[in-house]
Amino acid sequence: MWDFMITYPLKPSKMTEIEKLDRIAINVRSHKLLRQLLSENPELEAILRNSKNETEVVVGVREWIERSLKDREDAFRFYHARHASRDLFEKLEWRDYAIIRILDYIDHAGKEYPDLNLRGEIAVSNPLRLIWLAVNKGTGGAKPDFFIDMIMLFRQLRGESQQPSVSSEQVGAWMDRYPSGLDPRIIQLREENKQRIIRILMKQIEKREAKNSRYYFEPQLSKAEKLEKLERWWEDYRFHLQFAVRSPALLNEMLNYSLDPDTMKVLEEAEEAGIPFFVNPYYLSLLHVRVPYIAVGADLAIRYYVLYSKQLVNEFGNIVAWEKEDQVKPGLPNAAGWLLPDGHNLHRRYPEVAILIPDTMGRACGGLCSSCQRMYDFQGGRLNFNLDKLLPGENWSDKLKRLMSYFEEDAQLRDILITGGDGLMSSDKSLMHLLDEIYEMAKRKKKKNEKLPDGEKLSEIVRVRIGTRLPAYLPQRITLNLVKILKEFKDKATVIGIRQFIIQTHFESPLEITPLTTMAIQRLIASGWTITNQLVFTAAASRRGHTAKLRQVLNDIGVLPYYTFTVKGYMENNSGFAPNARVVQEQLEEKVFGHIDEKYYEDIRKFPEESTMMVENIEALRRFAGLPFLATDRNVLNLPGVGKSLTFRVIGITRYGRRILEFDHDETRNHSPIIQEMGKVIIIESKSIHEYLQQLEEMGELREDYDGLYGYSLGQTEHRIPVYEYPDYDFKVTETLSNLEL
Ligand code: SF4
Repeated sequence: MWDFMITYPLKPSKMTEIEKLDRIAINVRSHKLLRQLLSENPELEAILRNSKNETEVVVGVREWIERSLKDREDAFRFYHARHASRDLFEKLEWRDYAIIRILDYIDHAGKEYPDLNLRGEIAVSNPLRLIWLAVNKGTGGAKPDFFIDMIMLFRQLRGESQQPSVSSEQVGAWMDRYPSGLDPRIIQLREENKQRIIRILMKQIEKREAKNSRYYFEPQLSKAEKLEKLERWWEDYRFHLQFAVRSPALLNEMLNYSLDPDTMKVLEEAEEAGIPFFVNPYYLSLLHVRVPYIAVGADLAIRYYVLYSKQLVNEFGNIVAWEKEDQVKPGLPNAAGWLLPDGHNLHRRYPEVAILIPDTMGRACGGLCSSCQRMYDFQGGRLNFNLDKLLPGENWSDKLKRLMSYFEEDAQLRDILITGGDGLMSSDKSLMHLLDEIYEMAKRKKKKNEKLPDGEKLSEIVRVRIGTRLPAYLPQRITLNLVKILKEFKDKATVIGIRQFIIQTHFESPLEITPLTTMAIQRLIASGWTITNQLVFTAAASRRGHTAKLRQVLNDIGVLPYYTFTVKGYMENNSGFAPNARVVQEQLEEKVFGHIDEKYYEDIRKFPEESTMMVENIEALRRFAGLPFLATDRNVLNLPGVGKSLTFRVIGITRYGRRILEFDHDETRNHSPIIQEMGKVIIIESKSIHEYLQQLEEMGELREDYDGLYGYSLGQTEHRIPVYEYPDYDFKVTETLSNLEL
């Protein structure tokens, strides 16, 4: 059956890279999978056998699909649409996904893309050619993961595989596997962890001298008195920052030496490579040191946020920046065309909003999430955890005024996102100063507008946001004094027309919701700010039911989910990466049970204006609408171009079985006009679907729970829920875009 042509080798030096790849023999497992592919698809085999070269294969497969599946109108409409709509996406049936994917594979056959997962190596997508080479020459080098993906694709095309239908009961059962940190049994485990950690800290503090720190023991204190002090200090966020763990050895000690030697080896290599460690004692107390039967594997999403992967260690030093629009040269526009003040304090992607990063402690965070894009800056030495050096410098006050002028004079900016790092790492004094300056600027902008005619008026500031992960990392930071500052700002800023006050948190796991977190959120809600959450859909967070449960627990304490982000980055984040296919699957099979009907849109639109009633309002809406949770979040990827989107199609696949995705921009929101010139964005995923499923199995998941995953090869960005829309002005804003250079 297998007749291979005899080929005489060229000298390797004369061959192109692609010619070299063509000659790589496929392995035994690939042969077996190829045989399976052909035996399941006699039409495909006939085309391959009757074609003299790969061009004839491509033509043959296209003709076959267009002839035999021509009645599938939605598939062809979607395939031909330059910008398809969400409505059309929702009409697609399972086979349609396969038709579109194969036609896209054919259209992009032979295209070359730099694969930044492999330090810029060129990836060529030509799956039908790889199969043809494998059949006719036993070469092409395609790996088993490639053939598995192709087998699944043709099963979907034949109508043999079905889109999984998942019941709400099934989703509920998956969610039940993930207890929250409010479960009394989990609270008990955390108390044990805390007691172990504070005893280790006690020894450290016993060695300190009084003059070095506010945290010291007077000489005559008994052990009980020391423990009492430590209990009090545990409530003080500064204590946790000061005693954050900065080495793998101490990390392991704090975790009762529970880390296995392989993990420790990676962590020690991470330390040698210069990757910082910064895990505060409170957050460390959330990690289990033995697997509790009530929560097997439940803490993995937070565990892998603290423990670095081998891939990160290998890539550290070679990490490529993902966010192109954040790389700014003085006097030149950023990738989105925006001109920004010097100093790297402002980032801007969209007309309406800019990110403000203060020159304060706010540049730091209460921890270092392993998949954080800022690893790039730690790698280059631009960031570190020398917190003392992050106190605002003398000229920060003047610089802040200059930054405020930018907002004041800009035609479209109406939204300030204070972040960093972490917006709440700034001291109360720094934060108050910052909010005061924002208030004064917003007031001046409003006053200036009074003199401008309708149609020439500038956008006034209507939304202020603070991005922070401290409610998860260190809820003790939400002190009564902080809450007072936030409330006072809200009260006075409301008078001058600012209407939305949002704390944007980052919870990854239901286990991060602890009694201290709940108290922190209650305080923030009482201050009148709306709390929203963004999470990163890491491999551990992508397990069935995990994110659905997080949404539910967040809702219970009055938090609205905002964005669910695909892990960005390249090979350094390979371990944490969950393919976009899983993102779409989660959206259509689990999140769908939290879908809010449009008839409730008016109710939810009012939520931020009644922010102190958030718990009650969410609860009432869930009850009336019969929803286990409110899926107010949109699944998106932060594109390495401009903005966020989940509008994509799989247009290629590498011989390793890693998918090549073509992303389009989110059409549901305003962009810089540069978007028209930018075209689509190509992403090569760092992990094949097969590798991802293996990883899930290692986390204890059942492969069959993810049936159908291979089939999700396209996505369409969801519509924004009205709770996240800007309020309307009662005047007409100018259409001018200022600070823009295209
Ligand atoms: S909180 Fe955000 S910015 Fe800070 S380390 Fe984590 S992901 Fe990065």
